Amino acid sequence: MKRRKHRVLEIINLTPETFILRLDRQDFQFEPGQYVVIRIPDEQKGREYSIFSSTTDNYLDFLIREIPSGEFSRYLRHLEPGSELDVEGPKGYFILNEKTKLGHPTLLIASGTGISPFHSYVKSYPDLNYRVLHGVHFADEAYGREAFKPERYFLCTSRHEKGDYFGRVTSCLKENPVQKDTICYLCGNSDMIEEVTAILEKYGLPPENIRTEVFF
Ligand SMILES: Cc1cc2nc3c(=O)[nH]c(=O)nc-3n(C[C@H](O)[C@H](O)[C@H](O)COP(=O)(O)OP(=O)(O)OC[C@H]3O[C@@H](n4cnc5c(N)ncnc54)[C@H](O)[C@@H]3O)c2cc1C
Repeated sequence: MKRRKHRVLEIINLTPETFILRLDRQDFQFEPGQYVVIRIPDEQKGREYSIFSSTTDNYLDFLIREIPSGEFSRYLRHLEPGSELDVEGPKGYFILNEKTKLGHPTLLIASGTGISPFHSYVKSYPDLNYRVLHGVHFADEAYGREAFKPERYFLCTSRHEKGDYFGRVTSCLKENPVQKDTICYLCGNSDMIEEVTAILEKYGLPPENIRTEVFF
């Protein structure tokens, strides 16, 4: 697997917890939905991060939540422009299938920074026939919302009423049935993915229409 050095261009702070790590792209090629392993140069320590930017951007963006007790995300947040990181990849198969690319109805369901691969999908393929359900705690966590068509993006906020829906994505899905032939992509924490998968199965979606990427 290719491992190459990339330079930090910028750290863009979005909220007190979340930031974008922007690296130079060089000639790095990927499919939207893939991730890389970022490592501290000459160290083994590394973590996986989905690519947030599109295939047409001339930089590589990663949307990262700083975990207060987590050593790696904290290290990344405090890097200066010009610092070097090792990037291994691209990796993973959470990419769009051909039916989705051809305009089949698609539902993208994310929790928190799990919106990252969907941001890359939609920026790379603007004509997709998609809807997004994004679950967060507060409305200021609608990371990258401007990339999505407003009528296709629904923000579920669980800790206050300033989103489009007050409650978790699971409650929203229980109140709003999903058609069996919809292709669903789920990304985020494992509890959300398990609960949402069970709801979609109850609606009769076959396993091949439920595609998942677990962050933690
Ligand atoms: C395929 C894949 C793609 C990933 N893509 C992203 C991404 O695009 N953005 C991103 O922020 N993270 C992503 N992660 C998670 C990331 O790899 C790290 O786990 C995260 O940055 C925490 O690392 P840490 O060393 O700071 O904390 P650690 O000490 O490793 O983790 C501490 C705890 O933090 C929690 N945690 C981990 N990630 C998150 C998160 N994103 N949001 C809330 N809580 C979390 C978990 O409970 C974890 O056990 C991805 C993971 C995988 C497997």
